[in-house]
Amino acid sequence: MATHVELNTGAKMPLLGLGTWKSPPGQVTQAVKTAIDLGYRHIDCAYVYQNEKEVGVALQEKLKGQVVKRQDLFIVSKLWCTFFDKSMVKGACQKTLSDLQLDYLDLYLIHWPTGFKHGGDLFPLDAAGNVIASDTDFLDTWTAMEELVDEGLVKAIGISNFNHLQVERLLNKPGLKYKPAVNQIECHPYLTQEKLIQYCHSKGIVVTAYSPLGSPDRPWAKPEDPSILEDPRIKAIAAKYNKTTAQVLIRFPMQRNLVVIPKSVTPARIAENFQVFDFELSSEDMATLLSYNRNWRVCALVSCANHKDYPFHAEF
Ligand code: NAP
Repeated sequence: MATHVELNTGAKMPLLGLGTWKSPPGQVTQAVKTAIDLGYRHIDCAYVYQNEKEVGVALQEKLKGQVVKRQDLFIVSKLWCTFFDKSMVKGACQKTLSDLQLDYLDLYLIHWPTGFKHGGDLFPLDAAGNVIASDTDFLDTWTAMEELVDEGLVKAIGISNFNHLQVERLLNKPGLKYKPAVNQIECHPYLTQEKLIQYCHSKGIVVTAYSPLGSPDRPWAKPEDPSILEDPRIKAIAAKYNKTTAQVLIRFPMQRNLVVIPKSVTPARIAENFQVFDFELSSEDMATLLSYNRNWRVCALVSCANHKDYPFHAEF
C-alpha cells in the first residue's frame, strides 16, 4: 500500500492525515503532538475550526525540537466563506499562516463553494435563519487563490464540497492558471460518492474523504441518526481482519485511492487510526462496503440550501 498520492503539482500528499474540526483548543495541541510522534505527517486544519493557533503551538514545538522537518509535513487549511472577495483572500491566508506559525501551507482549499457576507459572523444569518450570501463568484476567488501560489504562501490550491458541475465550471474558467489539486468531500460507507470521485479522478484531481467515521461528534447529531461505527455489518468485517471498525473505515477510502483524515483527540485512537498499513480489505469486502451507500450526509449545510452555489441540489 502506498503511503502518499501525487498531486497534479508533482507534490506528494500523505494518504492519511489528522482531522481537527471540533478538536477543542485545550486538547488539539496535545493531539497534534501525539500524532506527529506516532508518524502522522498530514494535518487537516481550517480557519473556521477556531483552533489553528493551538495547532500551531504543536507544529512549532515539533519543528523546533527537530522531531520532524517542515518539508516532511503536509499542512492543509481552508479559506472560510466570508473571505471570498478577491481583496480578502491573501489576508485570510496570512492569518492562518501566522496562527499555524508557518511560512507556507502545502495545500489551501476553498472550504465551500458558497460565499457569505463578510463581517463578524462566520455564518451570517437573516431573520429566517438562511445564510446571507456575498455577491462574490468562486471563479474570482480562485484567481486570488492562484496568486497565493505565485507569491509562495501556498504550494497547492484546491476546493472542498464542490459538486462535479462546480468543478467543471472551475476547470472551464477562462484564463485558468492552476487546476485544483484536491477536492475534499464527505465520504464513508453511507455516502460513497462513486460518481463525483470518478469525475475528479478523470480530471487528475485527488479526492480527500472527510468524516470517514461518520463524525459521531457532529454538533447536530440526533439519537435516531444512523451510526457507521456501530453498524453490525461493518463490525463483522472488522472482526474478520482482527481490526477495529474505525480501522476498516479508514482503510476503505485508502484502497479507493482517496486521502483520508479521521479526527481524534484521544491518544489511543490517534494511534489506532494510524495502524491501517498492515492489512488489506478483499475486493469482495470493498464491494460490500460500497453497497452500504444510502446518500446520508453529515455535512448537508442546511442553512445554505437557498444559496445560489449550494452544492448538494445536483445529483453529484
Ligand atoms: P470523523 O473523523 O468521521 O469522526 C470523528 C469522531 O470519531 C470523534 O468523535 C472521535 O472522537 C471519534 N473517533 C476517532 N477515532 C475513533 C476510533 N478509533 N474509535 C471510535 N471513535 C473514534 O469526523 P469529522 O471530524 O467530521 O471528519 C474528520 C475531519 O475531516 C475533520 O476533523 C476535518 O478536519 C475534516 N472535515 C472537513 C469538512 C469540510 O467541509 N471540508 C467537513 C467535515 C470534516 P475523539 O476525538 O473524542 O477521540
